[in-house]
Amino acid sequence: MHLTKTKQFLHPQPPSKGHGSTPPSPTDELPQRAVEILRRLTQQYPNATCSLTYHSPVQLLVATILSAQCTDVRVNQVTPSLFERYPDAAAFAESDLEQLTQLVRSTGFYRNKAKNIRAACQLIMTHYEGRVPAKMEDLLQLPGVARKTANVVLAHAFGINAGVTVDTHVKRLSNRLGLTKQTDPGKIEQDLMTLLPQPEWENWSIRLIYHGRATCGARKPDCGNCALADLCPTAQS
Ligand code: SF4
Repeated sequence: MHLTKTKQFLHPQPPSKGHGSTPPSPTDELPQRAVEILRRLTQQYPNATCSLTYHSPVQLLVATILSAQCTDVRVNQVTPSLFERYPDAAAFAESDLEQLTQLVRSTGFYRNKAKNIRAACQLIMTHYEGRVPAKMEDLLQLPGVARKTANVVLAHAFGINAGVTVDTHVKRLSNRLGLTKQTDPGKIEQDLMTLLPQPEWENWSIRLIYHGRATCGARKPDCGNCALADLCPTAQS
């Protein structure tokens, strides 16, 4: 039952048109639906933005590394004192690892996070004159930085839509909405990049994150109160 309905959303019957007209390809439906979903979410969350608190690209990089397996609320509790003590890449690069580790302890996986933050900032000092690089390939060379972190930094620190940030909310909602069948974040990102206009890539992620928190939770989606219900195969199953 569920599979049949999902399939219907992924491959709808093209509407009948007059004699001689070319029916739209079934593959046209997904981008149209994705754009409509984004339009509605933009109406619902007009001021949605990155929830992490930061005042420079380095601080955003550090906050994003800390946000892995941790809530933004928790990260924002930790970063004010962290950034007071280590305001820039030079300070993080020269930090005492044990002290840094203790300061980020409450974000979980703190030993790895502290090690990566210090090593990333050391590389930023030696290779990029203390500035966070604004290219995907350079960011991916930094310890602790994968595509998710790089996408967040590029979008919010530099205004560059290099990819789609796929966190746990984006992954869950994109699947429930029938926009991908993939489970690997890299493959989900590729699917979403083909569906959405590039200027909207980060908007998509931010608004899905808001919607995941507000309505489409991990344990139980509130489909009865969701503005996307008529566009969502999960609500119809
Ligand atoms: S209709 Fe339900 S499953 Fe679909 S996006 Fe809304 S809350 Fe999530």
